Amino acid sequence: MKNMFINTPLSFKGELLPREENCRICHEKKGIRIGIVDYWDIKTCNIILCEKCSHIQLDPMLTEEETNRGCYAYYIEESLRTGENEQFKNCLRNFRRGVVFGWMLKSRRISPRNILELGPGSGYFAAGLQFVIPTVQITVMDINKEVLDFNQEHHHFETIRSIPDILQTTYQDKFDLVIARDILEHVTDISKVIENVNACLKTGGLFHFITPNGYEDIWKHYLTFKLKSVSSELLINHVNYFDGKGLKDLLIQRGFRRVDYYTHTIKTTFRGQGRKETRKLMSPVSKKMKAALYTERKADDIKRIEFKKVEILKKWYIRPNAKWITWLYSLSHHFSVIRISPMRNIGHEIYGVFEKIK
Ligand SMILES: [Zn+2]
Repeated sequence: MKNMFINTPLSFKGELLPREENCRICHEKKGIRIGIVDYWDIKTCNIILCEKCSHIQLDPMLTEEETNRGCYAYYIEESLRTGENEQFKNCLRNFRRGVVFGWMLKSRRISPRNILELGPGSGYFAAGLQFVIPTVQITVMDINKEVLDFNQEHHHFETIRSIPDILQTTYQDKFDLVIARDILEHVTDISKVIENVNACLKTGGLFHFITPNGYEDIWKHYLTFKLKSVSSELLINHVNYFDGKGLKDLLIQRGFRRVDYYTHTIKTTFRGQGRKETRKLMSPVSKKMKAALYTERKADDIKRIEFKKVEILKKWYIRPNAKWITWLYSLSHHFSVIRISPMRNIGHEIYGVFEKIK
C-alpha cells in the first residue's frame, strides 16, 4: 500500500508570477498562481501560493468594503437556503461543542475568567463553555451589529464592535482565553491578527481556533483552474488557505506555544479533496453571481427568525444539576477520535489550542 492516496505528497502546479501585494506572512513579492476566483461580481483575484512560507491567499486581497458587500449578499443567500430548523440545530451543536471544550479545560485544571470570542455567530459555543464554567466573563467581537445584539440579548455577553485586524489597546493583557472559530480564513492580514490576539492575552493565556485545512479548502478552486483554465466562483470570503506547518510556525514566531494542534474529519480526504485531480471535485465555473441581486432585491424575503435560549436548550441531556450527563452526551457527538498532525495537510479542519508564552 505504498502509494495509498493518503500518503501521496501534495503539490500544486502553477506559474510563478510577481504578486500585486506581498505575502502577508513573509512579504515575498512573487508566488505561484494556482487559481483564479470571482468573488461574486465584486472582484477577480488570483489565488497565490507563497513558495517561501507556503501560505495561500487571494491576490489582490479583498478590501473592507468589498468584503462587507459580499458577506451581506452571502448572509442573505444563506438565510434563504437554510431553514429555521437547521439554524436551531446549529445553535445546539455549537453549545455541545462549547461544553466539550469547557470540559477539556476543566480536566486540565484551567479555569479562565475573562474570555474574548472573535466572530461569535450565535454565541452558543461560548454559552456551552459558560455552562461548564459559570464564573467566566464573556466578551464578543464582531463588525455586524445584528450579531452583537443577538449575543447581548441571548447570552448577556459584553460586546465590542470591531474586526480582529484592529488592535484593541484597552483590552491589552486582559483575557485568559481568546476564541476564533472559523475566523482566521476570513481575515485580511493574518500576521496582524495573530499579533493582536497575542496582545489581548495575558501571558499564559490560551488561544483556541478552528479553521479549514487550506489544502482541502482550496482544492476545488485549484481543479477548476487546472482542468478548465477558467475562474471559479467564491461566494464565502475564504481569503486564507492554511498550510499546517506554516500556520504553526507563524504562531510560534508570534509568541505562542503549541498545546493541542491536529486535523480531524477525514471523510473529505477519502473523497479525494486535496489530492485527487478529478472534474467531479471542481468548484463551479464562475458566473459572476450578482451580489446586488441579493443585497437589494432579496433582503425583504428574509424572515427574522425569533427563538429563545430556553427553547433551544430544552433538551433532556442539558441539565444544570447533572452536568456530567450533558458532558457525556456532547462528548459522544463531538469528540474526534482521529487526530492527525496538521503537517500532513490531511483532513477537513485544523483544531488548535496555543498558549501565549511571550
Ligand atoms: Zn509567504
